[in-house]
Amino acid sequence: MTTGPDYDVIVAGGGTAGVAAAVGAAREGARVLLLERHGCLGGAAAVRNVLTLCGLYTLGDDMTPVVGGIGAEVVAALEDRSAITGPQRFRGVFSSFEPEAMKLVLDQLVAGAGVDTRFGCHVSAATRDGDRITGVTFSDHGGDTSVTARAFVDCTGEGDLAHLGGASTRYGNTDGVNLGTLGTRFGGIPADVTVTAQQIAEAIGDIGFAPGTVTKDRCVIVRLPGSADMVLYLASADYDPRDAASLSRAEMDARRQAWAYLDAIRTIPGCARAYLVSTGPEIGTRESRHLNARRQFTWADIEARASHDDTIALGAWAAEWHDRGSYASSFDYPPEKAAYEIPLSCLHSVDTPNLFCAGRLADGDRKGGAAIRVMGTAMATGQAAGVAAALVAQDAFDPAEVRARLRQGGALLSVQDLS
Ligand SMILES: Cc1cc2nc3c(=O)[nH]c(=O)nc-3n(C[C@H](O)[C@H](O)[C@H](O)COP(=O)(O)OP(=O)(O)OC[C@H]3O[C@@H](n4cnc5c(N)ncnc54)[C@H](O)[C@@H]3O)c2cc1C
Repeated sequence: MTTGPDYDVIVAGGGTAGVAAAVGAAREGARVLLLERHGCLGGAAAVRNVLTLCGLYTLGDDMTPVVGGIGAEVVAALEDRSAITGPQRFRGVFSSFEPEAMKLVLDQLVAGAGVDTRFGCHVSAATRDGDRITGVTFSDHGGDTSVTARAFVDCTGEGDLAHLGGASTRYGNTDGVNLGTLGTRFGGIPADVTVTAQQIAEAIGDIGFAPGTVTKDRCVIVRLPGSADMVLYLASADYDPRDAASLSRAEMDARRQAWAYLDAIRTIPGCARAYLVSTGPEIGTRESRHLNARRQFTWADIEARASHDDTIALGAWAAEWHDRGSYASSFDYPPEKAAYEIPLSCLHSVDTPNLFCAGRLADGDRKGGAAIRVMGTAMATGQAAGVAAALVAQDAFDPAEVRARLRQGGALLSVQDLS
């Protein structure tokens, strides 16, 4: 075991939440280590073909932006490269982007903030002293390295750091765990060919697959900026992402389904030359562990349009639920399709004061969690968790101070900020 340097803040996981957390902490003066098991940043945006940013705008006719700060910087940098469209509408409001541009933009963001970023590093263990996490071990091709820090942010989506560090976590919620789906990118569909969800459903029906061949027949259709590619979220599987055997079966079954969907798509007018550009490369896990936090964010909070003393971000997405039993999807809008407030306490561990989380790991009930997991919101909760962790490292943690620093960093914190 090698021993590495000491940091103020360690962020595990370099998805949209982890990047925002690392940059947010570094801009507060913290020495930050960001550990990512893949060779690029972006998480689902880079390795799961999730190529639309949701949660950036309210869902009403006004489409008001609700994410400032680092999330807005990412959008602006993508716009500079003409690598993002939108906002567009399909049930919700979203912006589709080019994943290669996203990877570069995130690389530049962490480099500009001075974050020590390490790829190919799997967080595989953590140490604890009393109620605090003290260090993590990551594995790379050189073996195991242990590093210490004063504060931690778990942005792994699976809650690996929290789980390994002995913090209280749970898997999904007692009333369900959102379904996992393989984001699949199809090419060879000219930009002037319009493909509708109805056409895809009919093509799947007409082909007459044997029962069990495919799982879903309807989803959002994502057209990428200026390309002949479209991304579909159809091939789904009921699996446990914490268990490699279960995950591997799901990956193989979803890839098999992707080829069956290709057969159906090729029967749609204009799509005869369609081909598979990429599957995933990983299946997309919508929900796994949650950190058990000081407060759970609930759908009732959204319905009540609750205001919190420690609001650190605004959400706008709906409770988007994909059922594991029936494979059916539902989309429950927030009241008046308006923004709602998200408290810091749903990102702060209930039993480990120097641990925060962000992104899909945030503590939410079935519908509350399903609303705040999306990537636009993940950048907002990530920035907040990073700033909070930096203040813990300075022994200066105070939710009011976190809010003040976030405001200085351009974050939007209250629905009044929007009017
Ligand atoms: C099929 C599907 C469709 C979706 N559609 C949309 C959409 O259209 N728009 C939208 O905004 N959101 C969408 N979402 C939700 C969104 O993708 C996630 O909620 C979001 O990516 C969460 O961000 P995150 O940073 O918390 O997690 P992730 O994006 O999952 O990132 C986690 C990162 O942690 C890394 N990691 C994990 N474990 C370790 C470890 N032990 N050590 C080191 N690194 C580790 C991973 O490699 C990854 O890079 C969709 C999700 C799925 C599955």
